[in-house]
Amino acid sequence: MIVTIDGPAGSGKSTTAKRAAARLGYVYLDTGAMYRAVALGFLRVGASATPTGAEAVLPSLEVDVQHQDDTMQVFLGDEAVTDRIRTAEVGRIVSDISTLAPVREYMVEQQRRIGRAQADRHGGVVLDGRDTGTVVFPEAPVKIFLVADIDERARRRLQEYEAAGEEVTLEEVRTEIEERDRQDRTRDIAPLRRADDAIIFDTTDCTIREQVDFVADRVKAQNARGT
Ligand code: C5P
Repeated sequence: MIVTIDGPAGSGKSTTAKRAAARLGYVYLDTGAMYRAVALGFLRVGASATPTGAEAVLPSLEVDVQHQDDTMQVFLGDEAVTDRIRTAEVGRIVSDISTLAPVREYMVEQQRRIGRAQADRHGGVVLDGRDTGTVVFPEAPVKIFLVADIDERARRRLQEYEAAGEEVTLEEVRTEIEERDRQDRTRDIAPLRRADDAIIFDTTDCTIREQVDFVADRVKAQNARGT
């Protein structure tokens, strides 16, 4: 079973996907974390978010993930970078990096490989991102598109930054996610959009439990249909 959860920044994708995967006994694949790891790779060598920058960086850049219990670790080469990719600095450049065709080709290939392998091994995988239902797994039987009010999304992202010890204001976070969403929605390749067969779910006034229930119920209904 492949479950895709897409939507704009701060709509609740990661938390929902992670907990739904745990509840269903599936594996969680955070595709945004993989793009963030690529962005960190660009930052580390001072490469620009341009096709020339990608040509210089990509041949020696390897992004992979490892799953342990309910957590997913992202690797840049041999280094676990899960704790280093949630910074405002990475957040500022990740959408630029994500517009580059060679970056997307590499990511989609990795995500399909990992997704299929994990679904075979564990019975299912829950992916979250921007194009998981439109491009990575357009044939997924359960597709969800999460949305939420911009103020609520900014508040959630601010809490994450504060928990990570970053000093940013609500206004800065709001501007960052609005700009990122604009870029993600308007890029030429694999823009953020709802797949025609994805169900929209608004998380603005929802508890995490309600969000997880919603996903788990859709998966159970799909499994009952026998596909
Ligand atoms: O999910 P998260 O906010 O961590 O994603 C960071 C960025 O990675 C997004 O703003 C988007 O530019 C990019 N991304 C993408 N396609 C995905 C997942 C993330 O382009 N499937």
